[in-house]
Amino acid sequence: MISRRYLYLMLAALALACNDLALGPGIPKPEDPGAKASRKKVLVIGIDGCRGEPVKYAAVPNIRKLMQNAVYSYDALTQPPTWSGPGWSSLLTGVWGNKHGVTDNSFSGSNFAAYPVFLQYLKAADPSLQTVSICAWAPINQHVVSHADARVNVTSDAAAKDSAVARLKNGDPDFLFAQFNDVDAAGHSFGFDTSVPQYMQALTKMDGYVGDLVNAIQSRPEYASEDWLIVIAADHGGNLAGHGGNSYEEQNIFMMYHNKRFVSREVKKPVTNSTFVKFMQRGQYAFTENTAYDFGAMVKWTVEYRVRTSGLSSDPPFIANKDWNSGNNRGWVICVSGQGWKFNAGDGSRRVDIGASAPALNDNKWHHIAVSVDRTGLVRLYQDGVAVGSANMTALTTLDPANVTKLIVAEDISKTYGSRYANPVINMADIRLWNDALDPLTIAEYAKCDTTVTPDHPYYSNLIGWWKGTDGKGTLLKDASPKKIDLQIAGNVNWEETGKDLCGAMVATDVPKIVDIAPRVISWYNIPINTAWKLDGKLWFDY
Ligand SMILES: [Zn+2]
Repeated sequence: MISRRYLYLMLAALALACNDLALGPGIPKPEDPGAKASRKKVLVIGIDGCRGEPVKYAAVPNIRKLMQNAVYSYDALTQPPTWSGPGWSSLLTGVWGNKHGVTDNSFSGSNFAAYPVFLQYLKAADPSLQTVSICAWAPINQHVVSHADARVNVTSDAAAKDSAVARLKNGDPDFLFAQFNDVDAAGHSFGFDTSVPQYMQALTKMDGYVGDLVNAIQSRPEYASEDWLIVIAADHGGNLAGHGGNSYEEQNIFMMYHNKRFVSREVKKPVTNSTFVKFMQRGQYAFTENTAYDFGAMVKWTVEYRVRTSGLSSDPPFIANKDWNSGNNRGWVICVSGQGWKFNAGDGSRRVDIGASAPALNDNKWHHIAVSVDRTGLVRLYQDGVAVGSANMTALTTLDPANVTKLIVAEDISKTYGSRYANPVINMADIRLWNDALDPLTIAEYAKCDTTVTPDHPYYSNLIGWWKGTDGKGTLLKDASPKKIDLQIAGNVNWEETGKDLCGAMVATDVPKIVDIAPRVISWYNIPINTAWKLDGKLWFDY
C-alpha cells in the first residue's frame, strides 16, 4: 500500500507542475499547494495526577496561551478506579476499564490483545507514521505501549521534557506521547487541591515544560506545513487524601485539544439539578422582603419545597415569615420537629400548631413537603404527596408581622434563631410559593421527584415564587417564577454537587473524557474509526 505521506508528496509535486503550466497573465494564483499537503502531527502531553479544577486557578501561562486556540475543559473526567494503570490504559486504548481490564498499577488482567494501544490502528493504516512514547513512569511503556518506533523511559520530568524536545528538534515524529510525574508526586505529598501551594507550584513547573515542548514544535523548520494537534490530559485527579477512590475530585482531570486554527472553546460541566444549595452553618439563610409576599392580605397560599438531610435537631425553621421566638408571634413557620416537621401560625395572641404525622426525614433522601393554607378553613400538611395533618385556621385574625412582607429560608425573620444551637445540615430545592391553596391531587402529582412545574401546571398563574436552589453557584436563589424575585443567600454559600438528581439517579455529565483522546487522534490523521474497535470516546469537534 502506498503510504499516505508518499501520496501527499506526489499530489504536491503534481500540483506544483500544474501551477507552472497554468500560471499566466490574468489567471488567479491557485491555493498554496503546501496547505493541501500539510502533514498531520500529534503531541500528547500526559500529566500524571493533573486534576482539572486547580488548573483553572494555577499560574500556567503557556497552557493559557494554548487555550486561545483550543477546545478544553477543567471539568473533564476519567473513571474509577482512579489509579495510573487504569487511567493511562484508558487514554491509550480509548476504552474504559470494563474492556481493557486494568484495575490497578500491576496491569494484571489487561486485555490489550482485544483493546490495543491506538498506535496499532495508526500503524495499520499508515506504517510510515513515526510514533514515539516517552514516559517518566516506565510501566506505561512496559505494559501498554506497542507499535511505537521508539519507547523511551526516563527517570525525571526534566529528562522527559529534554527527550521530547530533542526528538521534536532533531527527529520527525508524527505522533509523540510525553508523560510526566511530578504533579502527581506533589499531590501525594501535599494534596491534589487548589488550596495546596506545593501542588499549584508543581502545575506551574509543568507548564514550563509545556512551553518548552510548544517552542520546540514551533521552531521546526517544516512547522508552516505541519498541522499539529497538541493534547494535554491526565490519568486521574485527586483530593487532599490522594487518589484511587470514587470521588468527583479523583475522577476530575484537565483536558485540552489545541491547534493553531481552533477557536477557543471551554467545555463546562453542565449545571444540572444535581447541584443543590446546602444550609449548614449558623447565620446562613436565604431572604427577601417584597410586597408580593404580603401574607396579611392573602387568604390562601401554598408553600412547597424538597429537603434532604441526614439528621435534624431542635426546631429551626425551614421557611418562615415570622419571629419564631414565640408561637404566638404574628406570621407562620414550617420548622423542624424531632426528625420530622411541623407548622405554626400566630396572630399575636392566638396560635395554631400542627405536626406532620409522617415518616422521619433523616434518611438522606429527598422529600417533598407541602403546606396549603386557607384562612377561611384548614391548613393541610403533606409529605411526599400524602396528607399528614390538618388544623382549623379560622380563629387567627392576622398573619402579618409588623406589616412587613418578609420571607426567609433556613431562619426566622430575626435572622438569629439559628444561633441558639448547631443548625442541622439540610439541602433544599424546588421551593415553590403559590397564592392559592393547591388541591391534594395536584400536590401529589408535583411532589414526584421527576416532575417540574411548567406553564401547564393547573395553578401556574398563582405561582409567585420558585427557587429551585440548583443554580450551582453564586449568592442568590434565583426565582424561576414569572415574579423573578431572587432570594439573597447570607453567610457562607454552599453549593453541593451530588451527581444525583432529585430521584437519586446519577446525572449524566457530558464533558470531555479520557477515552475521547484515542478516536480524536486517530481521526486527526484522517483514518476512519472502525466500529469493530469498540472505542468508548467521542469527537468534540470536526477537523
Ligand atoms: Zn499517583
